[in-house]
Amino acid sequence: MVDESADAVGQDLRGSLAWFGLAVATAALLTFLHELGHYAVGAAFDFPGLTFEATSVRDAAEAAGVPEWQRGLKSAAGPLVNWSLVVIACLAARRQPVARWAQILGLVASIRGGLMAGAYLIASALGSAPSGDGHDELNAAVGLHLPVIPVMVLTLGLAIAAWWFLVTRLASGRRLWTVALTVAGAITGFVVYARAGALMMS
Ligand SMILES: [Zn+2]
Repeated sequence: MVDESADAVGQDLRGSLAWFGLAVATAALLTFLHELGHYAVGAAFDFPGLTFEATSVRDAAEAAGVPEWQRGLKSAAGPLVNWSLVVIACLAARRQPVARWAQILGLVASIRGGLMAGAYLIASALGSAPSGDGHDELNAAVGLHLPVIPVMVLTLGLAIAAWWFLVTRLASGRRLWTVALTVAGAITGFVVYARAGALMMS
């Protein structure tokens, strides 16, 4: 009996570590793909001063008078990469048994947009809308002349729907633990990627 439960704990630990490790790797890869999305649109429209950095893609498009809608598309491209992957992940997660990669990918890919939109909505409800720096959804809405609040509500709604769909498909009884592992892994993956990227590009 003692050996069996020690074994179960060992398997549990291995399972948790594997989940955490996958979340770290997924977040790092996702951040790269997200920035690549921004870069691809900037490159397609030949933005002046386009530079790929680990966690941002800079350009001199505004000063050079590049049309607003092209800058809006560049801002939208990063989140669109994330949401495309969330859709793929949720479609894959419909099959039983639910694939671990699909759950991790869908959860990790929807965190950023959900947090951004949630923070924006709370801030504007309190009467202090945050600045547009690094805010893809806001810049995309402004550039593409879309109403900001509905865009944020839609983004937050998509994130909540994805999380609801994926979390209810996690093994019951350990959902909270799995969600905590996923969030911790996503943050770790982002930080490690940003540090490594900054080192490589310096
Ligand atoms: Zn972005």
